[in-house]
Amino acid sequence: MAIETLAALESACQGKDLYEVIQSDDCMERGVSPEESFEQMRELYTAIRRAASRYNPTLRSASGMVGGDGEKMRAYVAAGKTICGEYVGQVIAQALQMGENNACMKCIVAAPTAGSCGVLPAVLLPYQQREKLEDDRMAQAMYIAGAVGQVVAAKASIAGAAGGCQAEIGTASAMAAAALCYLGGGDAQAVCHAAAMALKSLMGLVCDPIAGLVEVPCVKRNAGGAMIAMCAAEMALAGIRSAVPPDEVILAMRDVGDKMDVSLRETGLGGVAGTPFGTKIAEQMNIEL
Ligand code: SF4
Repeated sequence: MAIETLAALESACQGKDLYEVIQSDDCMERGVSPEESFEQMRELYTAIRRAASRYNPTLRSASGMVGGDGEKMRAYVAAGKTICGEYVGQVIAQALQMGENNACMKCIVAAPTAGSCGVLPAVLLPYQQREKLEDDRMAQAMYIAGAVGQVVAAKASIAGAAGGCQAEIGTASAMAAAALCYLGGGDAQAVCHAAAMALKSLMGLVCDPIAGLVEVPCVKRNAGGAMIAMCAAEMALAGIRSAVPPDEVILAMRDVGDKMDVSLRETGLGGVAGTPFGTKIAEQMNIEL
């Protein structure tokens, strides 16, 4: 990808729509036409919607720790008694449902990874429904999310095993913040700063899956990542900017990941995985860590 930094993304627009700049880049890199590129992106978004519609609240994960919470949240929202309102409740429910889909081995779209697959759908699907947007508009926003994910992957990491959960949920949140900011009318600068503010908010987050399974704390962290994405997008749309340049935030995230102890990088040894509860689950499942 020619766009290797958020600064390059910010300055590449020159009167064009941001998604078109990223689409051109995609066409050049993969040797596809704009139509082919867009069709693939639309199909990716359709796959997200399909995965969301196939949520099954009766399924439970391998350990039994995960399943049904997305439905509990949906019912709670439907009862009309939420603290933060219906829309925020729907975002949380969607994040949990998609995270459960993954933990229960159902089809998902990794964005950027399977463990963090709930963040982007949680931010995009309820927004599309509320604003009554066409799938084509959502596909445009997917380009924005994809570009942010690509830059983070190239400059830092999107793998919990390499950079901790900040690299997975953090990147997903940055992607979602950028996409939502774009949909909300933010320009390229706002989009990049939305991503940076989300990433900063999750910096230092360790990867500590109990028994090495992508279940706990992963599923609920998707809801947290979605909330931070919405907060970052709102701040960027209000004209607030990250004091630290967005690309420097990404490099700082890489540095933090490099310094993270191995027990906190998907080994299932530290963090909540290392609690008596976490250790007991691993023992019960005869999982050696
Ligand atoms: S805790 Fe680790 S495995 Fe779970 S979502 Fe975060 S990075 Fe992925």
